[in-house]
This record gives sequence, C-alpha cells and structure tokens, in this order.
Amino acid sequence: MIKTDIIIIGAGPVGLFTIFEAGLLKLKCHLIDSLPQAGGQCSEIYPKKPIYDIPGFPSILAGELVDNLMEQAAPFKPGFTLGEAAVSIDKTDDDKYIVTTDKGTQHEAPIVMIAGGLGVFEPRKPPIENLEKYEDNGVEYIIKDPEFYRGKRCVISGGGDSALDWAIFLADKDIATEVSLVHRRSSFRGHLDSVQKVMDLAESGKIKLITEAEVVGIEGTGKVESVIIKHKTEGEIKVATDYLIPLFGLKPSLGPIADWGLDIEKNAIKVDTTDYSTNRPGIYAIGDVNTYEGKLKLILCGFHEGTIAVQSAFARIHPDKKNVLKYTTVNGVHGF
Ligand SMILES: Cc1cc2nc3c(=O)[nH]c(=O)nc-3n(C[C@H](O)[C@H](O)[C@H](O)COP(=O)(O)OP(=O)(O)OC[C@H]3O[C@@H](n4cnc5c(N)ncnc54)[C@H](O)[C@@H]3O)c2cc1C
Repeated sequence: MIKTDIIIIGAGPVGLFTIFEAGLLKLKCHLIDSLPQAGGQCSEIYPKKPIYDIPGFPSILAGELVDNLMEQAAPFKPGFTLGEAAVSIDKTDDDKYIVTTDKGTQHEAPIVMIAGGLGVFEPRKPPIENLEKYEDNGVEYIIKDPEFYRGKRCVISGGGDSALDWAIFLADKDIATEVSLVHRRSSFRGHLDSVQKVMDLAESGKIKLITEAEVVGIEGTGKVESVIIKHKTEGEIKVATDYLIPLFGLKPSLGPIADWGLDIEKNAIKVDTTDYSTNRPGIYAIGDVNTYEGKLKLILCGFHEGTIAVQSAFARIHPDKKNVLKYTTVNGVHGF
C-alpha cells in the first residue's frame, strides 16, 4: 500500500504543478497515470508544438513545459505509478481513500485530486468482428518497443502520421521482415515527407502498400496468422502476418472515473469553485476534467485550480492549523 497525503489521478500539466503547490504546504503527492510517461496531452498529443499562453513564457514547447514542471516538482519527491489506470476508489473507516489501479496497485490518502483531463486515452479500434480475441495475441494498438517486431511480419493499418512513421521505421531499419501498410483511401493524412518516404520504400519493395482497402477479418489459431483485406476493386485478399497493428489514434474517455459517485455533467466532474471540491468530501477535481460555469480548458486555469484546491486540502488534513500564505520569494522552496 502506497501511503501519501494527496493522491493525484492524472500526471498531466495540472497534476504536475499541483505537486509543487502542495509541497509548499508540506503535503506529499503520489500521482497515478494510465500513460507510461508524465505530461498528459502535452506529452501524448503535441510535445513539439509551441504553447503561447503560459504566463511568463512567450513561447514554450509542450514537451519542454512538462520537463520544467517535473523539475519544479522534484524537490517535493513525488511518487509515480505510471502505465496504470485508477479504476476504483474506496473509503476507509478512518476517513481516508484507497485508490486501486487496473494492475492492483493500491494507494491510500486522506485527499484525492482528480486531474484526469479528458480521461483515459483508449485506442480507436477498427470494426473487425473477432478483434478482441486476438488482442495481445498478434493485435497491438501501440508500438511500445519496435524491437518486439524484429524478424516478424507486420500489417499496419491507418493513414495518419503514426501509421506512416511506424511503417517507415520498421521497414527502413530492417526490423520487421515484411511490412504491409493498409489504408482505406488512396491519399494519406500524414506529413508530406513521411508520405514520400512511404512511397519510396514501396517502390523499393520494403513496404507493401495496399490502399483503398480495409482489414476486415483476422484468422489464426490462438494468435494472428493472417488478415483478410477488402480491396475496393480486387475484392478480398488474404495476407499472412504475425501482427496486425491498427494505428487509428487514441480517443479519450472519462472511463472508470464516471462510476465513482461524482456529479458528472457533459463528461466532466462538477465542482464547487470556492475550492474545486466535488460532491464527495476530500475528493477534488482540477484541470480539464472538471466543469463549472465559465470553465476554460486551459493549462493556466488548471494551475490556478490546483493551487486553490491544495489550500482546502491542507485545511481538511490539518483542521487545527492555520495556513498563512507565504511568498516563495520570501520563504524560498524547501523540499522534503
Ligand atoms: C493540440 C492541442 C493543443 C493545445 N494547446 C493549448 C494551448 O496552447 N494552451 C493551453 O492552455 N492549452 C492547450 N491545450 C489544452 C491543454 O493541453 C489541456 O488544457 C491540458 O493538457 C489539461 O491538463 P490536465 O492536466 O488537466 O489534463 P491532461 O493533460 O489531459 O492529463 C490528464 C492525464 O490523466 C490521465 N488519466 C485520466 N484518467 C485516468 C485514470 N482513471 N487513471 C490514470 N490516469 C488517468 C491521462 O492519461 C492523462 O495523462 C491544447 C490541447 C491540444 C490537444
């Protein structure tokens, strides 16, 4: 059991900054995120895009902002449970919460801050009838380690940057023995140079390009052995393969948070704007995951919400202590 003062569900920018604000009040945080890295949307969706509305930074790359937030939080030694989704929240007899992940890791604290953003990112799945049967048995939605595919045959489906980039990587570096790229249109949505590179690799025979086609079926005993591809003009084609990798992007879903007895409105958690508390005492919701009149889904608004919420959390944890606001310029930053 991991014990801390504040469990933060979601290690996006808002969760990360909240570690710092909690730390100033001598409260320790442990963060849980279903993604394998911290940074939320900034790391997962747009790490290389410049953000122009972070106060004091005329321009900063989203990935750089995450690095800075991690550095700023470091003195307060946050704990992280990454690559695990928080699935349940239970109250203990002594008024604490236990948050359990899909891998069974348990965390206990008097305060829970939900900074879950748009929710858990789930892969968009193609409509193939027996798809689920082959998940982890040849069907993969995320390429975590390309070496996993060394010496294997891969069918990648999709027409965006992720599908193009991985097809190029696996073929050009001679990792997979065979790479087929299946896309339902004749043109691709990805970057022009990636499209050109795919065309070049197709020309040299390193990528088998199958456009105006869709994977419609999977065959194999226990694991993927071949896929059935429906081509616009040629009808059904069977391609022998070890892996089918549909790369159609990730879609956010509030997921398990929606079943925790919290007031939900328009796929977000309703909060009291005096301290961003939810209808369950000791549970707060900050950042993109919450809703209230006038809500703006912006990073700077999430920073404000986290700052206010930890003040309220302090009062709950230490009802007998009075917290006096101290400037960091005066008090400095004293880590744990
Ligand atoms: C392309 C793009 C450009 C943007 N540009 C700007 C901009 O210029 N300025 C600006 O202010 N904002 C911008 N935004 C919005 C900004 O990224 C969000 O407001 C911000 O990321 C919200 O931060 P967050 O920490 O609340 O949530 P998120 O960044 O969404 O992070 C939430 C985290 O919670 C995790 N999570 C959710 N549920 C669970 C669970 N049950 N268990 C474990 N983990 C969970 C998720 O995996 C995720 O990592 C942009 C967004 C996009 C997509």
